[in-house]
Amino acid sequence: LPDSVARRRTALPPGVSKEAFEKAVAELRSTIGKDNVELNDKPLVDGWYMEHPNTHDAYHVVEQEELIASAVVYPSGTEEVQKVVRWANQHKIPIYPISMGRNIGYGGAGPRIPGAVVIDLGRRMNKILNIDADNASCIVEPGVSYFALYEEIQRRKLPLWIDCPDLGGGSVLGNAIDRGVGYTPYGDHFANHCGMELVLPTGELLRTGMGAMPGKDGADNPTWQSFQAAYGPYIDGIFSQSNYGIVTKMGFWLMPETGHQSYMITFPREEDFAQIVEIIRPLAQKRILGNIPQLRHVIQELAVTGKPRSHWYTGPGQMPREVIREKASKLPCGDVSWVFYGTQYGDEASIASQLKLIKSEFGRIEGAKFLFPSDVPADHYLHSRVAVCSGVPVLKELDWLNWQPNAAHLFFSPISPTKGQDASLIHKSICRLHAKYGFDVFPTMCVAGREMHYISNIVYDRADPDAKQRATNLMREMIREAAQEGFGEYRTHLLFADQVAETYSWGGGALRKFNEKIKDSLDPNSILAPGRNGIWGQRYRGKGWEI
Ligand code: ADP
Repeated sequence: LPDSVARRRTALPPGVSKEAFEKAVAELRSTIGKDNVELNDKPLVDGWYMEHPNTHDAYHVVEQEELIASAVVYPSGTEEVQKVVRWANQHKIPIYPISMGRNIGYGGAGPRIPGAVVIDLGRRMNKILNIDADNASCIVEPGVSYFALYEEIQRRKLPLWIDCPDLGGGSVLGNAIDRGVGYTPYGDHFANHCGMELVLPTGELLRTGMGAMPGKDGADNPTWQSFQAAYGPYIDGIFSQSNYGIVTKMGFWLMPETGHQSYMITFPREEDFAQIVEIIRPLAQKRILGNIPQLRHVIQELAVTGKPRSHWYTGPGQMPREVIREKASKLPCGDVSWVFYGTQYGDEASIASQLKLIKSEFGRIEGAKFLFPSDVPADHYLHSRVAVCSGVPVLKELDWLNWQPNAAHLFFSPISPTKGQDASLIHKSICRLHAKYGFDVFPTMCVAGREMHYISNIVYDRADPDAKQRATNLMREMIREAAQEGFGEYRTHLLFADQVAETYSWGGGALRKFNEKIKDSLDPNSILAPGRNGIWGQRYRGKGWEI
């Protein structure tokens, strides 16, 4: 046997013998059905985005076998999720719920504890439970993808938009509880959710928001998808980016369709960066910018063509600035440094007046140039932004991955104030450290009125252990350096969760202690997704799992 397969065969939950595990699995099979529990005993296949594995992290940062499941279980509904949870408590086996597992760059389907049992909710729990066209809302199960929700709305010819992230294959529910973002005015997915149903780590059921009140004659509450907070503490937040519950249903608001106009603005000089940020801030605060716009470095104009790096440059280390300039000069953007992608919404007259203002503000930067979709060729990335920014799911963003052979990526995602000086500081640190570890810098900034998500995409070759090690070292050093300046990440890959959580250390680690208190009271056996977001239950805490 190849070494990796031999080692993998031993991937059992920690502290559980082979015999005990086999017995537990047999029991689970008799409860959930023989075909709905699969052992992870075949060679690991990374697949690709649309055929992704649920057995491990396909975008492995360490060895492929590190973030790996011992088995995968497919419950058919909330009741079976409860059964799996009770089973896990009985056998002290860690479980790791995923909706669809397309959380690429953040850990995919891989559990933090090797040998945990992955609960793949999406395979059988994939129903759109309701679309309320008048309320412009829906309620979905974990396996509903952006594509599926979009298609159903089209099929029913409803005048509603969904809001999708850059790639449309992921779970609407999974992305929202991981606090992912999209690009229409409804782009903050968690902020636009309304009500959840959860299985708690001990197996009890909970409905949040107005769902906590029974409707007439036992029906679902009629305002479950209308009002978020209900009465008393607003608890939904603690179930996002956490390991306190398994979400089996979640409500979302949908945006009524409207007119829209996407555009790009190019800026010639690297040094324009600080001024661009300064101009965006008031425009975003006054809600003149229609959505969360993206600011990208011009190197991405090369990457989104889908051509590999070797097409442009074959030297080692970072692609030199002169090469990027020279290549960009032959693309529709021209020889520029920054590209801004925005979209305005409303009727024609209001879009025209918004654009007039936006043009005059950005026009203060010498050489700034406005381009509309009609100004660029049909295969240009701007057309993909038109789709995403009007609620149409796409896969175009995958083209990036041609940059490297066997490409995988990691996101470094710190939050910066929307201020030129702060944003420049973090940008310089990221550029310097990427150069140190020999990676091209791919910054995409999602800029709002008071903060910006600086999303830096490290693209590496999964088959090259040296590239993986460099990517890991780069991540660790960026997290450290950002934290020294007071900048923290909004989300991170599973393997960096401990380090990121540790940077939120104000008040002697008050936040960590609070999270641990909740974890231990809800999950006394620490069975649910130990280590996710740096939260370990008492069973694992301080026993060498934190990295
Ligand atoms: P997507 O396929 O939309 O990218 P995932 O299913 O990979 O999303 O979910 C992202 C992460 O959120 C998972 O790794 C898991 O930790 C958590 N998660 C996803 N779905 C659920 C759920 N229904 N209940 C609890 N946690 C979940």
